Parts: sequence; C-alpha cells; structure tokens
Amino acid sequence: GKSRDMRVFERCESEVRSYCRSFPTKFHRASGYTMWDVDDNAYIDFFAGAGALNYGHNPPEMKDRLMRYLADDGVAHTLDMASEAKEAFLSSFEETILKPRELNYKVMFPGPTGTNSVESALKLARKATGRQTVMSFTNAFHGMTLGALAVTGNKFKRGGAGVPLHHAVSMPYDGYMGPDVNTLDYIESYLKDSGSGISLPAAAIVETLQGEGGINVASDKWLKGLADICKRYGMLLIVDDVQMGCGRTGTFFSFERCGIVPDIVCLSKSIGGYGLPMALTLIKPELDLWKPGEHNGTFRGNNLAFITAAEALNFWKTTRFAEEIADKSRFLRERLTDLVRKFTDFEGEARGLGMMQGIAFEPGIADRISRMAFERGLIMETSGTDGEVIKIMPPLTIDKDGLNRGLNVLEECLVEISK
Ligand code: PMP
Repeated sequence: GKSRDMRVFERCESEVRSYCRSFPTKFHRASGYTMWDVDDNAYIDFFAGAGALNYGHNPPEMKDRLMRYLADDGVAHTLDMASEAKEAFLSSFEETILKPRELNYKVMFPGPTGTNSVESALKLARKATGRQTVMSFTNAFHGMTLGALAVTGNKFKRGGAGVPLHHAVSMPYDGYMGPDVNTLDYIESYLKDSGSGISLPAAAIVETLQGEGGINVASDKWLKGLADICKRYGMLLIVDDVQMGCGRTGTFFSFERCGIVPDIVCLSKSIGGYGLPMALTLIKPELDLWKPGEHNGTFRGNNLAFITAAEALNFWKTTRFAEEIADKSRFLRERLTDLVRKFTDFEGEARGLGMMQGIAFEPGIADRISRMAFERGLIMETSGTDGEVIKIMPPLTIDKDGLNRGLNVLEECLVEISK
C-alpha cells in the first residue's frame, strides 16, 4: 500500500517549514523521470526539482564522472581558488554555449542559488549606473532574499517581511492589462514623464516566461521592445533565466527565441546538472567592476557541481538535444490543447513554451488536480498567484512514452473531476 502516514511526513518536513505539503510520502530513489517512494510506488516526475533536474534524476554520464572524481579524491570545495574542475567547466561553457551563440560574457559565481545570482545582478546594476531602483514586473518571481523579493511581484511570497519596495518599480508584464494593451507604452509614459515621480531605474529584470507567476509568456515583440526601452533610458537589461534557462523553453537561453542580448543573465537550477547547488551570473565584460572580494560567498567553489555541470554541457554539443525538446514540446502542446477542448466543463487555457507548459483553470481546480494526480503516481505542481495553473515541467530527457503516460494521468484526473 501507499505510504500515507502523515506523522512521518510532517516529521520530514518539520513543523515550522512554510513550504507546500502537496506530496505526502517519503521518496528514496530516482532515475530519469521516475521517483520511487519508500514503499516502492513509482511516480512520474513532471516537476523536475522545480527546474533543477532538466537532465533527469541521476543521469548516468554525470553520475559516472562524479563517482570517478570522488574515487580519485578530487577536491570538493575550493571557494574562489582555481581548480581543474572549475577551469574545465568554464572552458566548456565558453566553447559549447557562448561562442556558437556569439555571446560575449564574463562568468561570475554569485553563490550557490538562483536568488544569489539575482542579488548580484541587482547590486551590480546599481553600482554600474549609480541609480537606485530596479524595474520589475507583475507576477515576477526572483527569489527569497530581500533584494530578490523587492523585485518579486507577489505579495504572498514576501512573507510579511516589509520589503523595501522603494528599491523596485513594478510595471505590468506583457498581457497583464489584457490582450489589446501593449504595456510597453504604459511603461514608457512612466519613464519619460516627471509627473510619475519615479527616478530612472538602474535596470529592468525580467523572465521571458514567468514560471512561478503562472506560465505567462512574453511575446518576442514585447521583449525586443523592452530591450529597446532599456537602451534608450540607460537601463541595464537583466534576464532571470534561473528557471527558463538550460533548455527549458527549447533553447539553452530562453532569450534566444527573440534575439535580444541582455547585459546580465542569471542562471542556476539546472546549470549544476545533477541537482547540485550552483549559480552563474553572466555579465557584459564592461560590467566587470567589482574588485576582488567586493562580492563574495563561501559556497561559490563547489567542484562536485562543476564536474556535473561540465558533463551536462555535452547535451548541447550538437543540435540533437534541442531538436528532441522541440519535438516533445509540440506533442505536449497538442495533447494539452486537446484536453482543453475535450473538457468543456472548465474554462482552461493551454499555455507555455517548450517543456514549460500547463493549463490555466478557474480558481480551485488546479490544486485538486495536482493532489489527484499524486494519488495516481504523477508529481505535478501548480503555479500562478492563486495556484490556478497546472504546471508541466518534466525532465527534458523524458521520452515520449513517459510524457504520454503522465498526460494520461492528467486526463484521468480531468475525467474524475468532471463527474
Ligand atoms: N528566479 C526564478 C525565475 C526562479 O524561478 C527561482 C526559483 N524558483 C529563483 C529565481 C530563485 O532561485 P533559488 O530558489 O535557487 O534561490
């Protein structure tokens, strides 16, 4: 039988932990897109560690490399000292990712998590421009530390922290004011008119597709327009690719689809490859303004993460991986569109890009579906300000059969809920 002992579960989560409790079991083993709980029940993973497991659980090549490195007493942690593993990662990142895309960035290690990368980007933009505020967007999510929260467009996530909001200027994201309003016009009127009372921001920080915010996709045109506004008003453009990077939307960087070149890029989650904590901040060379030690942090030199991260880049050495993602993405979109058409009891909308897709429902439905899916062996989270969107984010390495079986579970849930 399935393990549903809530006492055990609550002990694992701890009493004070504020995180969701949607998946009441204990996991102990995982491979690819499958997780097993302690009673050996299998679950299809449509969550992928919130985007940290784009290459799946325990991908064999990374596991082998890591085990060999450990067996050889490879140095595990070196802070900001040079190491072979770090150098190998950096040169592969340059050759495999930056050069073929004609991108010229310096790579900074801001600390182990996504929010560390966001903090470093905000700090650097303020230093580089001498300006104080940063423009951010409705429904944005950028992390849990105070700077990142100040640019996060979600009151609940602030956790009652009384965030210094004067450091941020919140503006409407693409589509926020309805399909007929180009919010860039609205934004520009604020920037150019002294009657708005805002001073020019140091930067704009944006997700090209808002994951936590409810799978909101910004159009190519809007993103290009935003890049143009940044240029004209002397603002840096920061793309937060923490969740949408590393292939999630179909290309290594999410902004490749619209051809913009951000001044700063935040990467984390799947950059470590194996679920090991790691983050990068990519900066235009002219932004290399910090003296040694001006922005530091203990866990910036995790060589175990460098080992798996370098191995992960091998997925990107040819175009095959991106082609496979595109193929599976099309399949996913077709199935979701079909489901929305078939179950007319709810107003659903299929949305997203690449392997970051979902269905937006009227309030209350998505959460029920997520819990029902778990009972049937599918791990699937919700997103959106009111948790109204079912979020499908499997490992990018999932095969079509796994994808199909997961979607069949979703369909079963929709059948059940329409009864
Ligand atoms: N930015 C984005 C777009 C994210 O989705 C997240 C995490 N969900 C973060 C930043 C924060 O990353 P972390 O949780 O690793 O600090």
